[in-house]
Amino acid sequence: MKTLLTNCRIVNPYGEISFLDNGSILIEDGLIKELGLLDTSVQVDETVDLSGKTVLPGMINAHAHLYSALAVGMPFPKGNPTNFTEVLEQVWWILDMALDKESTKASYESGLVDHLRHGVTTVIDHHSSQNYVNGSLQLLADTADKLGINISGTFEMTDRNGEQTFQESLDENIQFHQKYKGSKSVRPLIGLHASFTLSDESLQAIANALKNESNWGIHIHTAEDKADQLDAVNRGYKSTLDRLNHFGLLNENSLVIHGIHFVEEDINIIRDTGAMLVHNPSSNSNNRVGMTPNEIINDLMAGLGTDGMQGNMLAEAKEGTLIRSGHLTGGAPGVNYAELLFKNNPEIASKLFGRKMGKLDPGYSADLAIFDYIPRTDFNENNWIGHTLFGMENPSDVMTNGIFRIRNNEFIDINEQDLLKNADVQSRKLWNKMDLIKK
Ligand SMILES: [Zn+2]
Repeated sequence: MKTLLTNCRIVNPYGEISFLDNGSILIEDGLIKELGLLDTSVQVDETVDLSGKTVLPGMINAHAHLYSALAVGMPFPKGNPTNFTEVLEQVWWILDMALDKESTKASYESGLVDHLRHGVTTVIDHHSSQNYVNGSLQLLADTADKLGINISGTFEMTDRNGEQTFQESLDENIQFHQKYKGSKSVRPLIGLHASFTLSDESLQAIANALKNESNWGIHIHTAEDKADQLDAVNRGYKSTLDRLNHFGLLNENSLVIHGIHFVEEDINIIRDTGAMLVHNPSSNSNNRVGMTPNEIINDLMAGLGTDGMQGNMLAEAKEGTLIRSGHLTGGAPGVNYAELLFKNNPEIASKLFGRKMGKLDPGYSADLAIFDYIPRTDFNENNWIGHTLFGMENPSDVMTNGIFRIRNNEFIDINEQDLLKNADVQSRKLWNKMDLIKK
């Protein structure tokens, strides 16, 4: 299958051809074959004229919680959480107890629709539905397949709901890993909630289960709040990563999320193991847990995630920029969030999925976000950050693996209205159930 996209502005910030005012992209068998000023008379299956449109690489969300998709508009907790642990106890640990199969499915569907609508073509998810464990990751893979989105799936293991749920979660992770390792569009990871909700016995059980597995990596929240570091120290370790490393759980496929309160030891361990850090500014700001220092983000080439706050990565990059600016004095250096999104995230996804993703270079997956964007000022290779973060809104067309999923603002494979109507029904049930759990 060969598709030729013509007459488009190409914005490929960290790629070989970084900017082109009017060019073409040739796609063959799901991959970008070539791009530039191409001969448009070549024989192809389909030619699509994108006059007036701007093509960006399909974006990657390096840390998502699709299970929180039905939390939009949810009633606030009755108490007023005064710290991070109370936020978890009063909101997220009630939500993830209330989710059943149907509401989980609706969360996946509506959350993935939200991502695709914003040109996000790869989602690295961290799932938790503590009363619906068995089969929850298979449902995620099936839903992602239906929408044509690249997915990394994992289930949050924790001790907080007893030994049996922990064991079921471990089994779910291992079975999913065994089934999907080596898959092209599904990347299993081994999910841990956070160091402070797992005992030494549980960490040892996870390490034992992985002993005979290959190509695995863990996906875990680390040092999001000082309480996580303090817990590890109280257990006799130097830090959260020192604790995970002690059990042999960190490697080059591992994703460690947040790292706001990292100490020197953590930074050295990331360097030594090749684990990857992901930063989530809008969530950190929302939870009032502090701000990851510039040096940690820059030195460790952190990726960018939304931590369940949204499916819009351009908004996350813009908000990250503004949140940081709000804490800095005039002239102090900030963080280049466009680099996290368009350079670091593609490296993380390419490493995890074992194929080239997140750029518009030959050999890369044909994942594209196409914007019907008429700039009101000059748009050139030097000012693309301003246009992408402060000018563009939603893409009109989205392609994953060489296939259009959204064309002229309409989904091709799914009925979006039906799916959102079902999400509305499920959200009402879910919120009622949460009310009962709170009582
Ligand atoms: Zn998270």
